[in-house]
Amino acid sequence: MCIFCDIANKQAPASIVYEDDLSLVFKNIRPSAPIHLLIIPKKHIDSIDHIDDKDEALVGHLLCVAQKVAKQEKLSGYKLVVNVGRDGGQEIFHLHIHLLSGWNNAKDRDIIHN
Ligand code: AMP
Ligand code: ZN
Repeated sequence: MCIFCDIANKQAPASIVYEDDLSLVFKNIRPSAPIHLLIIPKKHIDSIDHIDDKDEALVGHLLCVAQKVAKQEKLSGYKLVVNVGRDGGQEIFHLHIHLLSGWNNAKDRDIIHN
C-alpha cells in the first residue's frame, strides 16, 4: 500500500477530477504547470518497469483516460509524462501519468516538466 493506493481507496484526500472502475485522476498537490493532473490505475503497480503482459489493457486504458479527461477539461493540448525509477525522477512508486497543460506561452510549455 502507498499514498496513491490510499487516495484510490478514499483513505487520503485528493481533488478528484475523474474516476472509473480501473482508474482515478486527481490534481497534483505541487503542480509543475497551470493544469497538472495525475492519472493512476486503482491497482497498485510500482512503475512502468513493473508491468507485464496482463497489464497491457490497463496501461492502454490509462492513455484513453488521459484523452477523455483532456476533453472533459476542454484542453486544446497537453503533455503526458511518465517518470520511471529513481533515476527517472520517480518519487511515488505507484504507476502514474502526469498530464500537464494550460501554459500561456511556448517558453514555459517547452520546458521538460516532471
Ligand atoms: P513522480 O516524481 O513522477 O513520482 O511524481 C509524483 C508526484 O506526485 C509529484 O509531482 C507530487 O507533487 C505528487 N504528489 C505527491 N503526493 C501527492 C498527493 N497526496 N496528492 C497529489 N499529488 C501528490
Ligand atoms: Zn499504491
